[in-house]
Amino acid sequence: RFSKSLGQNFLIDGNVVRNIVKGANITKEDYVLEIGPGIGTLTEELALNAKKVVSVELDNSLLPVLEETLSDYENVEIIHGDILEVDINKLIDEKLGGGPVKVVANLPYYVTTPIIGKLLEENLNMDSITVMIQKEVADRMVAKHGTKTYGALSVFVNFYTDPEIILKVPKTVFMPQPKIDSAVIKLKIKEELPNIDREQFFKVVKAGFSKRRKTILNSLSSYGFDIDKEIIKSSLEKANVKAETRAENISLEDFINISTILPPLNI
Ligand code: SAM
Repeated sequence: RFSKSLGQNFLIDGNVVRNIVKGANITKEDYVLEIGPGIGTLTEELALNAKKVVSVELDNSLLPVLEETLSDYENVEIIHGDILEVDINKLIDEKLGGGPVKVVANLPYYVTTPIIGKLLEENLNMDSITVMIQKEVADRMVAKHGTKTYGALSVFVNFYTDPEIILKVPKTVFMPQPKIDSAVIKLKIKEELPNIDREQFFKVVKAGFSKRRKTILNSLSSYGFDIDKEIIKSSLEKANVKAETRAENISLEDFINISTILPPLNI
């Protein structure tokens, strides 16, 4: 009955549903964007607490169920579509009061990172993203430099947000049960982002983590950028980052510094 390939694991525990909505701090002033309402369990709790909810669901076989479950609520709108294809800026402008919106979802796990990547990269008028995801991914998002789980995803998420795990969730609250543990993470969008060339910054981060065991000097100079090793070396020196440091020990601020000191990277 459920589509495994669409990541359909439905919440069947009212307590967890209420705790997600509480954790997201939803009040009657709030415009909420939900991704993947499924059979509408979380949607209904959101409708009870928010001013307006817009939910985007890909599976059209769920639409009649959703209509039925939510027929008592006038502040919910279901949109049939793929969240990765939807023009979310337009949706916020036309249906969610222009924002800032709170995103709340029990995400389909096969597309967790593309969805969060899209939400963060599109400069949406957003207050926060509170979502159920794989616990392992949540752990990587909140990881600090100097720990084993710290990586490019941690730097990416911490560039845009202040992340916090607000709930650990056992497999038993889903139907069907997933194989892995879950967690609810809240990503509070930063009010102001550093005024830097983001493309350049993410190139440095990606290259830095491309060979985890290598030093930052070696990973940057073997990545294929068209720059002399000596220039990379002196840029690291200027940024006060030792050439033999590994990426997992480099903070967000240091990555930002390195990227602004390096000359423009092509590739
Ligand atoms: N919110 C419901 C709940 O908590 O019970 C369902 C969550 S289920 C983990 C994920 C939902 O996302 C499914 O209903 C699935 O059909 C939907 N979905 C999967 N891929 C999607 C996409 N690309 N865009 C929008 N919805 C999607």
